[in-house]
Amino acid sequence: MNLKDTIRVIPDFPEEGISFKDITTLLKDKDALKDAIDQFTELAKDLKIDLVVGPEARGFIFGTALAYNIHAGFVPIRKPGKLPHKKISQEYVLEYGKDSLEIHEDSITPGQRILIIDDLLATGGTLLSTARLIEQLQGEVVSIMTLIELTDLKGRDKLEKYDVHSLVSYP
Ligand code: AMP
Repeated sequence: MNLKDTIRVIPDFPEEGISFKDITTLLKDKDALKDAIDQFTELAKDLKIDLVVGPEARGFIFGTALAYNIHAGFVPIRKPGKLPHKKISQEYVLEYGKDSLEIHEDSITPGQRILIIDDLLATGGTLLSTARLIEQLQGEVVSIMTLIELTDLKGRDKLEKYDVHSLVSYP
């Protein structure tokens, strides 16, 4: 199974110059979905992970499946205003402007072993903010996994202190 063959690439979406990696074509392919989750599971199975943390929205898809397989809990990272209980926020810089991410402050117990998962590593801003939220709550970021990595954007450099794995890469 070549996962890359199941990912649809859309030029100039959502704006000119962006080569959008559309994973809906992978998700609807039962063999590709199983293969991706199996690969994440193999990478994670011996890491003694307590919690899988996934950013909204595509981090939820892989995150819950992986958490189930390795018998860990799942914690969502959400865009502002979505979480109902006490939370902490982390701002991050986008190509144009800023955004922020939030986590419930009681979602992690100090010392818990955390795996972060998302669909795609581009500049690394999303995953770095996620790691910072976890560390503010004194969780230990044991590993970061993504389905796709856009290597030219060098997001991995931003995450150099972490153990980063991706299943498929594009320049
Ligand atoms: P970044 O914070 O720059 O690493 O961006 C990562 C997030 O943006 C991921 O969660 C992706 O969902 C989304 N993203 C960024 N670039 C692309 C792309 N070329 N194709 C699809 N999704 C993207």
